[in-house]
This record gives sequence, C-alpha cells and structure tokens, in this order.
Amino acid sequence: IKEFGYQPSVNIGTSGHVDHGKTTLVEAITGVWTSAHSEELRRGITIKVGYADAAFYKCSGCEPPQCYGTQPTCEGCGGKAELLRVVSFVDSPGHESLMANMLSGAALMDGAILVMAANEKVPQPQTREHLLALSVLGIQQLVLVQNKADLTTYDEAMDNYKQIKDFVKGSIADKAPIVPVSAQHRLNIDSLIEAIETNIKTPKRLKDVPPIMHALRSFDINKPGAPIKQVKGGILGGALVQGEFSVGDEIEIRPGLMDEKKNRYEPITSVISTLGTGAGLVDNVKPGGLVAIGTKLDPTYTKSDSLIGSVIGRPGTLPKDVEDVTVETHLFDTAVGTQDMVKVEPIKAKEPLRLNIGTAAAVGTVTSVRDGKMEVKLKKPVCLMPKSRVAVSRRIAERWRLIGSGIAV
Ligand code: GDP
Ligand code: MG
Repeated sequence: IKEFGYQPSVNIGTSGHVDHGKTTLVEAITGVWTSAHSEELRRGITIKVGYADAAFYKCSGCEPPQCYGTQPTCEGCGGKAELLRVVSFVDSPGHESLMANMLSGAALMDGAILVMAANEKVPQPQTREHLLALSVLGIQQLVLVQNKADLTTYDEAMDNYKQIKDFVKGSIADKAPIVPVSAQHRLNIDSLIEAIETNIKTPKRLKDVPPIMHALRSFDINKPGAPIKQVKGGILGGALVQGEFSVGDEIEIRPGLMDEKKNRYEPITSVISTLGTGAGLVDNVKPGGLVAIGTKLDPTYTKSDSLIGSVIGRPGTLPKDVEDVTVETHLFDTAVGTQDMVKVEPIKAKEPLRLNIGTAAAVGTVTSVRDGKMEVKLKKPVCLMPKSRVAVSRRIAERWRLIGSGIAV
C-alpha cells in the first residue's frame, strides 16, 4: 500500500448478461469511496476513468465478513479499519451489441466478477458469452455473484444456485465462490469484498522495464468554446501492464494516426503533462489499476475514444504495428451469444472476422487458413505484443459473435 499510495493496484471487471445488476453492484461497492473524493474528482481529469475505484479496508476487531468494508472506520464496531488495497472496477456493458467493449475491457482485467440475476434462469446468452470471453483472454481469478437475491424466496435462490453450479462445471469458474447479494439494497457486500480479497490477487508486475499501457478510453475534457489558453491536452485512459510513467515523460502512441499523404499510420509522440488515478493527480503511476494520462496533444485527436486500442510506451520501445497477423486459432463448437446456439463452421479464406487484441477491436479479412493457423489482413494496424491472446468473432445474423480463441504468432 505504501508503495502504491492510493493508486489502484488491481483491475477487477464486471461481466454478465444485460440488466443483471453489474453497474448497480459497482456503485454499491464504490459509492462511498468515490463520493469521498468527489470534489477532487469533479475538478480533475480522473473522473472518466477512475470513477469506479474503491478502497478495501479490514477491521482487526471484527469477524469476517463484517470486518470487510470500503471505509477507514469499521461499520460494525466503529473502530479503525486497516487499508488492504485500492481496486479499479472495469464495468462491462452487458448488451450483446457491446461485446467489443466488453472484450476491450477484459484485456485489462486481472480478475472478474460474473454477475447473474437470481430471479432468472442460468445461463442467459451473455452470461455464457462473457464467461467464454474471460476464459479466452486468460482471466482465471473469478468471483460469481448471485444478484437480486431480494427478489427470490430461499428455495428459488437455492434452485438458482444449483443452476449456476451446473453451468460453471468444468469451466474456469468451476471452483469460484458464489456470493448471494442484493446490489440495490447493498446486502452482503462485505462477503463479496471478502471473496474478492481471497480469490482475486494483485498480480506481480514488472516495474523496472519500459512502460506499456493499453488505452481503454481517450477523450477531450474541454468544454465547447473554452478559451484557447485554457484548453487542456488530450487524455488517454487505461492501465499499465508493466513499467512506470512520470509527469514530463515522452511517450509514443501506436499505431497512431492515419497520415493521408503517406497513406499509412504514423505513431504519435507527446509528453505527459498530468497523471491521474481515482485518488487524484499524482507525479508517477505504477503498473496496476486504471490511470489517466494528460498529454500535450490536440484534444481533437483523443476525443470520443478515438485512440481506444492504442498502446503507449516510451519512444522507440514498442513493437512495430502490423496489418497482417497470423493467429493460431481454436474454434468453439458453438457460438453461445444468442438464445439459439449456432454451430461454428470452419474459418474460410476471404471471410471477414473481428480480432480483439489487447484493447483493440480490429476488423479484417482472412487471407489464408492452414493447420490451425490463419492469416488476417486488418483494415487498421495494431501494435502487436508478442504472443498476444486473440478473441476471434464472426458476423452471424448481423452481429459479431465470439467463435474462438487464438494466440498471435
Ligand atoms: P447491468 O446492465 O448489468 O449493468 O444492470 P444494472 O446495474 O443497470 O441494473 C439493471 C436493473 O436491475 C436496474 O433497474 C437496477 O436497479 C436493478 N437491480 C440491480 N441490482 C438489483 C438488486 O439487487 N435487486 C433488485 N431488486 N434490483 C436490482
Ligand atoms: Mg451496466
């Protein structure tokens, strides 16, 4: 904690079907923390990325789960609670049309909460699709949440619990705890924090290496018509997977922007003018939870998430961008994102696919398929980390559906 200050050290994602209560749950957990900092947040650049940070505390005088909370004062005994860590929540959209955003967010998750409504049959289409997405992207630290427990009787909740058990059998969530809560009534949130503390560990990350950050958002914080002198540079939000950034550092953003004259993407270079976390502005950020970088870039380059999927590092240290990727691919038997599951046909040359690589969602065309490997020509290059995990989606009935997993080779 000392080392991190109040910078979040771990990213926890939400996942699950639309309307099952993911956003309400994030609010139930983080509400107190964000309101404690709201003044600072409202003024700062951190609001858009760090809004969903929470600090977890434990009181040494109380028994679990009551000893877990999000405030420095124990809710049970009123005593002083000890700060465990600060966590960032990456709240996924549950709607089927937003799978690309879910996959981009999942690229930064160290662990995830899969939210299932206790008053609906398990699994719903995006419950299945999100669990598969988490497994494709290698997220193994999971906590299962049975939300809306306030809407069921005890017997209904137990029946739903059995459905969850059956559903996750043999999957990455097989051994994950199942915590019944009511996000709306903030019931049993202490048990959920305990389950997160026990099951989602902060991964070890390399600090003395060149920094690599994946952008999950980019934006322009200026009000329309702001006087030129007060205009703030473009902001990039995301997380560092390794290394550190300090104010004043030179950065390179890849693949960058289309240079119409050269007819290719050119990396962007800039300087870090501010750094923000959920706790406010800082001089230095470490690998871990969500952070925001203020740059000296013209904010029109960063507005409306235009740089989502970019990789940010020191000039000259990032891998080159590629337009042609070779992916070792494993297809699922069925595409699971709809009520009627569709058999996954083999990949064919010339078909369009979407590859999620890091936080980038890259559409391309298959140029060849051979021995479990395919080559895809992307419409826009990606800055490709060696051995990146790839989520492969195909257009089925007008929507991109997750059909397989891969490794870029
Ligand atoms: P998301 O799409 O998964 O992010 O779901 P939301 O958090 O937006 O919640 C969807 C709806 O379910 C909202 O109307 C919430 O108020 C409601 N909801 C969320 N959690 C609970 C809960 O624990 N109990 C009840 N009764 N309703 C809830
Ligand atoms: Mg939501």
